[in-house]
Parts: sequence; C-alpha cells; structure tokens
Amino acid sequence: MGIVSNKKERKMTNTDKKDLHVKNGDRVIVIAGKDKGKIGNIKKVDRTTGRVTVEGANMVTKAQKPQPAAGIQGGLIKLEAPIDSSNVMIVCPACDKATRPAMKVIDGKKVRVCKKCGEQLDA
Ligand SMILES: [Zn+2]
Repeated sequence: MGIVSNKKERKMTNTDKKDLHVKNGDRVIVIAGKDKGKIGNIKKVDRTTGRVTVEGANMVTKAQKPQPAAGIQGGLIKLEAPIDSSNVMIVCPACDKATRPAMKVIDGKKVRVCKKCGEQLDA
C-alpha cells in the first residue's frame, strides 16, 4: 500500500526559456543553501532550467576518469554545481549592496537598474 505522490507536472519545452534576473558575468551573492553569503561571478546561466553556476559556490567533488588521449588526468575534481537563480541576488557594482534589479526602459531599451541606488546594471 503506497501513497501515490501527486507531483505537479511541470510542462517545459525546449523553447520555454525563462527570463532570468541574472546574466553571465554578473556579480552575485548566494542567499540560500550551504554557501549562503558567498559572492562570486556567474559562470553559466541555464535559461531552460532557471539555474545558474556561480564561481566558487556549491562546489561538488566529482570523480574524473583519466582520459590520456584528451590529456585529462584522473582523480577527484572540484567543480561548481548549478543552483537555482532565485537563490542568488545581484551585487550592485555601484553601491555594493545585494539587490533585485528593477526594469527600466531607457531609449526604448530594457535595462536592469539597481533598486537601491538606481544605477544601471547593464553597462
Ligand atoms: Zn546600487
């Protein structure tokens, strides 16, 4: 006798890209999880899953098989695992505070601005 878990089905297609508040190269602070408080640059953004890879955050150890042909040594390697983009906040380069960006239209272009100081985040 088991309880049937009623998982909410997430319909997601390849074309279903999320509009994230962060981009590659953004300086962000992790606000949840084991690396809470860590600041790093975004290395990768996955707009399909809504996850981001932050430099130095959420490190995992993986076993790497040696691949002599590719010049790869075997052993344990450390690399960043992606975290949910909702677990990071942008650190504003102007006021150095964690912020969620506000959208503003300047000259017909959508830009992200800091909610705290109003500075543009997309320079
Ligand atoms: Zn700011």
